[in-house]
Amino acid sequence: MSLWGSIRPDALAVLNDSRVRKALGRYLNVLEGKKTAKFLIARKIAADFAENDPLDRLWSLHEELTRKSVALEREVDCSHESLASFNDPRASYLDLKVCLANRIFESCHLCIRSCGINRASGERGWCKVGSGFPVSSAFQHMGEEPELVPSGTIFTVGCNLRCLHCQNWAISQGYEPGETFTSKMMADLIERMRMAGARNINMVGGDPTPWLNRWLESFCKVRNSIATIWNSNSYYSPETARLLAGFVDVYLLDFKYGNNVCAERISSAPKYWEACTQNHLNAKEYGEVIVRVLVLPGHSECCVRPILEWIAKSLGVYVRVNLMDQYRPEWRAPEIPELRLKLTTKEFSETLKIAKNVGLTNLVT
Ligand code: SF4
Repeated sequence: MSLWGSIRPDALAVLNDSRVRKALGRYLNVLEGKKTAKFLIARKIAADFAENDPLDRLWSLHEELTRKSVALEREVDCSHESLASFNDPRASYLDLKVCLANRIFESCHLCIRSCGINRASGERGWCKVGSGFPVSSAFQHMGEEPELVPSGTIFTVGCNLRCLHCQNWAISQGYEPGETFTSKMMADLIERMRMAGARNINMVGGDPTPWLNRWLESFCKVRNSIATIWNSNSYYSPETARLLAGFVDVYLLDFKYGNNVCAERISSAPKYWEACTQNHLNAKEYGEVIVRVLVLPGHSECCVRPILEWIAKSLGVYVRVNLMDQYRPEWRAPEIPELRLKLTTKEFSETLKIAKNVGLTNLVT
């Protein structure tokens, strides 16, 4: 048994769990080498465009190629087509995504805040980051969901939310500068992590959203198949959601609040519910999904209940859900009276009952 197998035996056992195979079957096939990561499929689809083409032409081509990528993925998955028989096009669907993400970066609306500033020229948005690609740390994460472990996790600086209880506040709020990476450095890091046994590349921060263009550029240079995990707070724009389709294998999405009052009060996130639910629906359409719900003290009824009800109704009762009990009062949590407390065992048990009552059958345990 590998060293990590003895640390996390559940990470091996989970491969034979029928519920996990049902929810994350394609991802598991990618890590077993039976299917190909989506970014490599995207690289084989020719895209005929010029960098300065009108935006509406680029988006319309992107929509056409998204449909094509869904069809090609199906063919490749069924082994009717071999990717090896495709030549590398002069410009690909993945290159088109980079082009569009760079356009968005110049009047930034990667997330719901739509700051509209030119990040490419170094201007900093609400997320406090500009044009570099600052990496805070990268390591094989052994604490993630069993199906993800060991997870090649890369933390970038900056976040488009301001959760007052943030455990990663030094990174998310830009107190730590990080080391600026080029896309080549990132691609090399990804290859090294894959060689060292990572099951996936886990893009996180802060949040990965402010760096979508840099992530896409980096994966243009990665040679070997490895599953991509988009580990996000779900507060990203419709344009970002469109670019994630055909690139992301697994959407690892936080569902933080069951209403916009709590979202604004704790995370300064207007329209959170609308953005979060829409992005979960997009994720379900274009990839596989793991939903993370951090249970906050005093928020079982206002948040956890409506979240779990929505998940069961809209994503289905077989979706993988991680109901998390590890809340601790960090950073500015004392500013919110109920967040000064730790979550009690009784309160967490109540949320497990809610999950059971709404019919969810695939909780991470
Ligand atoms: S990613 Fe940052 S700069 Fe861009 S819209 Fe969001 S908060 Fe503003």
